[in-house]
Amino acid sequence: MDMGNISIHSKLPAGGTNIFTIMSKLATEHKAINLGQGFPDFECDEKLKKLVSKYVTEGKNQYAPLAGLPKLNQTLSTKMERLYGMPIDPNAQICVTAGATQALYTAIMTFVQPGDEVIIFEPAYDCYTPQIKLAGGTVKPYQMTYPDYGIDWNQVKDMISDNTRMIIINTPHNPSGTILTQTDMQALEEIVSGTNIIVLSDEVYEHLIYDGEEHQSVMRFPKLFEQSMAVYSFGKTLHATGWKMGYVVGPEYLISEFKSVHQWNVFCTNSFVQFAIADYLAEPKNYGYLPHFFEKKRDTINSLLAETPLIPKVAKGTYFQAYSYESVSDKSDLEFAKYLTAEIGVAAIPMSPFYTNAPDDKVIRLCFAKEEKTIEAAAERLMKLKR
Ligand code: PMP
Ligand code: GLN
Repeated sequence: MDMGNISIHSKLPAGGTNIFTIMSKLATEHKAINLGQGFPDFECDEKLKKLVSKYVTEGKNQYAPLAGLPKLNQTLSTKMERLYGMPIDPNAQICVTAGATQALYTAIMTFVQPGDEVIIFEPAYDCYTPQIKLAGGTVKPYQMTYPDYGIDWNQVKDMISDNTRMIIINTPHNPSGTILTQTDMQALEEIVSGTNIIVLSDEVYEHLIYDGEEHQSVMRFPKLFEQSMAVYSFGKTLHATGWKMGYVVGPEYLISEFKSVHQWNVFCTNSFVQFAIADYLAEPKNYGYLPHFFEKKRDTINSLLAETPLIPKVAKGTYFQAYSYESVSDKSDLEFAKYLTAEIGVAAIPMSPFYTNAPDDKVIRLCFAKEEKTIEAAAERLMKLKR
C-alpha cells in the first residue's frame, strides 16, 4: 500500500475492522439494543469499586512488579488450587496481563516462530488468527459446525505435523456457548503427550458454566498442564470489561519465557486495580455466585425468545447464546445480523467472521449479560420476526 511517499508493507493486509466494533457502531446508529458485543450493561460490585477507589486514594499508583502484585498472585494461586486442585507457585507460574487479549498475544509472540503451525477450532475468537499471523505462523483451522460444534480428536491428530507448535482451545466457548468435556480434555492430553506442542487454553469464561457442569481447566489434567498455558480475564469475572486486566498461568519454564517477552511490550499492568482484585477475589463467594447468576439470564432470554422463530443451541457456558434463524430468513448471517440491528432494533453478532471459510450455517450470537429489562425489551422487538 502506498501512502504519500511512504511505502508500507502491511503485516495484516486483510486489514478490516473487527465484527464487534462494526455491530456496536451499527447499534448506536440505529439506536438498537446491543446484544452484539459481549459486555454487561450492569455495574460491577460496589464493594469492588470501593476497593479500587481506596487504593487509588492510598497512593497505590506507581509501577507494580512485572509479573503482578505478589498479593494478587497469591490470591490467584489459592483460588486455582481450590478450584482445580493444581498447586501454582505465585512467584513463578503466573503473569498478570492487560486483559486476556494481551495474554494471548504475548503467548503467541513468545512461542510461535515463522513457519510454525497453530491449530485453532473455528468458529474461533477473533483475535487468534491475526495474532498467529503477526508472529509469522500459519493457522490450521479445524471446523466445528452448528448444531454440535463438536471436535473429532482423531481428525485433530491427523492435522498435527512436524511444524505444529501450538493448539489453541477455548472452553467455555465463544461464540458457540459449548464446553469441552473431561473426555475432550483427555483426548487432547493423549494427542499432545510426547510432542513439542504447547496448548494455549483460553478459559476467560471459567465461571460462566451452567446446568451443574464443571469447568474443565487444563489445570485439572497434570500431564497436559506440563505443556499448557491458561488465560483468564478479570473483565468477565468482575463485570468490568473496560478494565482490561487478566492473567496467564502455566509451568515455570513457559511462564519465564512469557515474562521475558511481556517485559518488552507491557512490563506491568496498573497497580491499584491489582490491589483491589487481590482483596476481592480472596473471597470465594465473590465469584462462586456467577454460574447461577448467568444461568438465570440464559434461561430468561431463551424462555422469552421461545415465542420467536429463533432456535437456541442452549448455551452450556459463556454469556453468549447461539440461535439458528433458518426458519425465518435466507440471508447470510452478516446480512441477517445487520437486518436485526437496523430493522428489528436488536444488534447481534454473525458467526461467519469467526471462521476462515465459513459454512452456510444460519446462526447468530446474542449476548445475555444484560439486565432483565434489557433482555425483555430486546425480546419484545424480536417478536416482530415472522416464522
Ligand atoms: N478470549 C475470549 C474467548 C473472549 O471472549 C475475550 C473477550 N471477551 C477475550 C479472550 C479477551 O478478553 P479481554 O477483554 O480480557 O482482553
Ligand atoms: N469478547 C467480546 C465478544 O466476544 C468482545 C471483545 C471486543 O470487542 N474486542 O463479544
